[in-house]
Amino acid sequence: MNALNHPTDHIALVTAGRRLTWGTLWNESARLAHYVKRNAPDARHIGLYAANSAEYVIAVHAVLLLGKVLVPLNTRLTKSEIKTQLETADVDLLLVDETCDVPVPQLTLTMRDDEPISDFHAWKQDEVMSLMFTSGTTGRAKAVKQTYGNHVASAVAAREHLGYGTRDRMLVVTPLFHMSGLAQVYRAACFGSTLYVEPKFDAARTLDLITREHITHVSLVAVMLDRLLAIGLQRQALRVVLVGGGPVPKPLLEEAERRHIPVAQTYGMTETCSQVATLLPSEALDHLGSSGRAILPTRVRINPDGEIEVSGPTVTPGYYKQPEADAWTTDGFWRTGDLGTIQDGYLYVHDRRSDLIISGGENVYPAEIESVLRRCPGIEDAGVTGRLDATWGTVPVAYIVGSYDPLELERLLTEHLASYKHPKAFYSVRELPRNANGKLMRHRLKETAYDSTR
Ligand code: ATP
Ligand code: MG
Repeated sequence: MNALNHPTDHIALVTAGRRLTWGTLWNESARLAHYVKRNAPDARHIGLYAANSAEYVIAVHAVLLLGKVLVPLNTRLTKSEIKTQLETADVDLLLVDETCDVPVPQLTLTMRDDEPISDFHAWKQDEVMSLMFTSGTTGRAKAVKQTYGNHVASAVAAREHLGYGTRDRMLVVTPLFHMSGLAQVYRAACFGSTLYVEPKFDAARTLDLITREHITHVSLVAVMLDRLLAIGLQRQALRVVLVGGGPVPKPLLEEAERRHIPVAQTYGMTETCSQVATLLPSEALDHLGSSGRAILPTRVRINPDGEIEVSGPTVTPGYYKQPEADAWTTDGFWRTGDLGTIQDGYLYVHDRRSDLIISGGENVYPAEIESVLRRCPGIEDAGVTGRLDATWGTVPVAYIVGSYDPLELERLLTEHLASYKHPKAFYSVRELPRNANGKLMRHRLKETAYDSTR
């Protein structure tokens, strides 16, 4: 997995301002590595705190060449969250694009020595290559140990499933500090594909790049796909449009299908170094709502409590310095904390176990109720959680942003949900508690100030 493996004159990396060959990418990475080694010879855990750029990718490769542990940091976090993560992961050097007000030594990632380093680290399968934080949706973010073997297995499995090669052009419009973004950097390095990196998602620019540069692979979230379809996205050279983080709404899939755009829905987590299961474009409409089959050699099963468990070479060896949080079963599977079912080999992800509401003995999934609430005209956002109830044990209650017609909402609920799933109270709120990744933190809904009930 390094830039040395590929023809030096092939294009490796394209950003708005730069177009680098594998030769240049390797040279710049090795010169940054030299600079880091000279200035911070004892640093072990190297944090990376920067916006998407060519320099970001160069820094990822520099850390790889040095054999140090990369700790990507989410630039949307607050200063105090960053400080906590730096401490948790024992970061002893921070590579930054702009100086950051934290008590850790820092180097700017545009710096280079004249000479490249000459001795590169030879990675072993079980060596920890990165500490990646989970999104912190259910509580404090945990630092996940990801080994060299985890990253390589994730890349190889993705190639088997989605096909990546030297002639492919992969576009990244999501943050490189997330698993889905970083995975593209490692995949390009494994397979010699060309990586296009955008500082952020801009629908018009993305459409232009897909068209002009004949992009073959792009990774999106559903709302980005929606925006691209709205401004006229067509198939072009696209072979895979990977959409993760949650199920893709049916109308979106149907529109993509009409335009022959190959959408692949995926389920994954930081603890599995990206994808666990992926629904191939050809299967999308026959298995609506599914996240597809496990990507080999990953194995997926559902335990008697309905929780998804996974095993395979992409699964983390555990959390960094937090072994009590590890989720191993006695026979070596990892409990994901997500509830799901498998039908005909296809995985359906329902909700997080910690968010499940058991009402009068029935399972109630907040995500299912939220998706119906969000269909009501005037409702901008909705969150559902459980409230203790003398009769039913727990009942669902809804927190709603926006204004709506209660009769229209009643009609939608009656049409789509059994009555035990109907929220028993509606709280109007200004906004929902979402983390820096935009994920709804349901355990914090109850703290949300509300204006009225119905
Ligand atoms: P934390 O573990 O800190 O609470 P997190 O679980 O949100 O945060 P990530 O590892 O970024 O952190 O996200 C993985 C989770 O995202 C999965 O466990 C699952 O709950 C959710 N998820 C990912 N893909 C899908 C999908 N296709 N459908 C439904 N949920 C998904
Ligand atoms: Mg998690």
